[in-house]
Amino acid sequence: MANERERLHNMFPDLDFDPQALRDKYREERDKRLREDGEAQYFEAAEEFAHYADHDPYATPDEREPMDITIDVAVIGGGFSGLMAAARLKGRGVTDFKVFESGADFGGTWYWNRYPGAQCDIESYCYLPLLEETGFMPKEKYSFAPEIFEHTKRIGNYFDLYNNTIFQTRVTELRWLSDKKMWQISTHRGDSILAQFVIQATGPANRPKLPGIPGISDYQGHTFHTSRWDYEYTGGDHNGGLENLADKRVAVIGTGATAIQCVPFLGDCAKQLYVFQRTPSSVDLRGNKPTDQTWYENLEPGWQRERRENFAAVLLGQNLTNDLVADGWTDIVRRLGVSLRSRGSDAGDLDREEMMLRSEIADFEKMNEIRARVDHDCSNEEAAEKLKPWYRQFCKRPTFNDEYLATFSRSNVELVDVSEAKGVERISEKGVVANGVEYEVDCIIYATGFEISSTPHRRVDFDTIGRNGQSLYDHWAQGYRTLHGLCSHGFPNWFTIGINQNGLSPNMTSMFDDQAVHVSYIIDEVKKRGSHIAEVTAEAEQQWVDHIVKMAGGAGGGGGGFQRDCTPGYYNREGQNFGLGKQNSPYAKGINAFNRLLKQWRDQDDLEGMKLS
Ligand code: NDP
Repeated sequence: MANERERLHNMFPDLDFDPQALRDKYREERDKRLREDGEAQYFEAAEEFAHYADHDPYATPDEREPMDITIDVAVIGGGFSGLMAAARLKGRGVTDFKVFESGADFGGTWYWNRYPGAQCDIESYCYLPLLEETGFMPKEKYSFAPEIFEHTKRIGNYFDLYNNTIFQTRVTELRWLSDKKMWQISTHRGDSILAQFVIQATGPANRPKLPGIPGISDYQGHTFHTSRWDYEYTGGDHNGGLENLADKRVAVIGTGATAIQCVPFLGDCAKQLYVFQRTPSSVDLRGNKPTDQTWYENLEPGWQRERRENFAAVLLGQNLTNDLVADGWTDIVRRLGVSLRSRGSDAGDLDREEMMLRSEIADFEKMNEIRARVDHDCSNEEAAEKLKPWYRQFCKRPTFNDEYLATFSRSNVELVDVSEAKGVERISEKGVVANGVEYEVDCIIYATGFEISSTPHRRVDFDTIGRNGQSLYDHWAQGYRTLHGLCSHGFPNWFTIGINQNGLSPNMTSMFDDQAVHVSYIIDEVKKRGSHIAEVTAEAEQQWVDHIVKMAGGAGGGGGGFQRDCTPGYYNREGQNFGLGKQNSPYAKGINAFNRLLKQWRDQDDLEGMKLS
């Protein structure tokens, strides 16, 4: 240890902190939170509280007769991934399709998440798709939820997708009928739908998650999940003004990206607010600002793709000099660039070990600033200590807010640290029990997120049965098996848009659009070539799986080493799985390289790896 300290000191003599002490502190804080039951802590509660997810507080149920239709394409999901698929199909002149969506409008995440303060952390100019096509200028650098929801409707109108969409309809099964060579789509409405092609676009964060806290069903007060905000109970709207809470004691469980955004509004309006925190978030500067109209109007055609690609390249460390977005996501990479330049080198000159060490030091510096920000913004010293995150920046999803930390300076707000007990102890009839104390409350709000890393079958909640009656999820039992993350052998004319075995980006909408472009191209080509079925061959699927595994490299793959040392969360499957496992890793060279590969594949014009019949 002494040698390591000396080595670090010799390499970085000017540091005003002890990196080894930080490593030790990070490990100690991580170990404190590791639970043996890992992800399973959420499963039992999920079964019991499935009704939370089924409930739609924003619409009244629409009665209709079951439908019996035959169509070319069924798109499952009307969030951004389904919307982009539908838009790209229309763009290619494929018009005989229906989108099936459980909400009463487009939007997916942005339909459901209407809690006060909801906002997208990814810059609006990158996040909102089709800005150039629709001619829309976002009001600010970071859009609030209503603007994003409106934009999904704008896309729906622009491509005339409302006439193609069946809302308030949940798919319950997809089944390939070999005799008819069609997919049969069953829904909770008793519909009978036959479709030649299916695009499954069900999104990565569609299933709300509740913690398996003992006694959770004993509670007699009011409860809801943040993704089903009950404005009837709280009063007010997205901008706050939750006037009904003026005489209420409210508990919020969870302090992730959602809580960071809604807690300031609750602190402002509730008589008493208790925030139960197991792991503090890293809360960086938001720094939102109005769009500069002159700048926006003078952007050159093609600017949005260029900006999205720049954002992805900067995040992957592939561009250390030209950061167009320049925000909290890219800050750490900019710091690394400065560190390299101060050494008179660039990334290519360094061996892997020194590169990783320099990244770690840049990370320590970043997180030191995040912790200093807590002291600056929160005048309650005891709360401020608890609000400091002790882990590397991307161990958990970074958050950005300029009001959250100051909320804990208020006399009506109390932060309850539940890290020692690895979570809230129990829910009683009257409230929340933590550290042996019962906090009596009128309402419990679960800001406990979504199932993001549980098995795909759990998250989707319906089965996809392919040729020979095989379930997709049995086919994937040992890990994803796809070509380009988009289709699987044994599942003819079936495509998915998502986050598996393809190029990932935190700017999800850009990934979804790129995949939608590709899938709509394949469907269009199959039709143009007078074929009926396209299916990836077993060999092509295996080759892609091998390629993904090979690129994942070292043990575990998918960020294995980094994730192993991280505090538990959904990024590392609650500390149980260090990285996603090689086969479930993304395309290691990143989204821009992945898109080049897809484009090359399309330009080849031979649908390589797919058998047409
Ligand atoms: P998260 O999964 O990020 O957070 C859930 C919270 O619940 C965590 O703080 C977790 O603690 C806590 N929790 C779970 N179980 C317990 C327990 N037993 N006792 C106490 N606390 C518990 O959910 P969010 O809804 O905040 O965010 C989900 C995702 O949605 C984000 O990561 C992001 O991808 C997306 N999002 C995006 C936004 C955007 O700007 N684009 C805005 C909001 C959300 P612990 O950390 O210790 O597990």
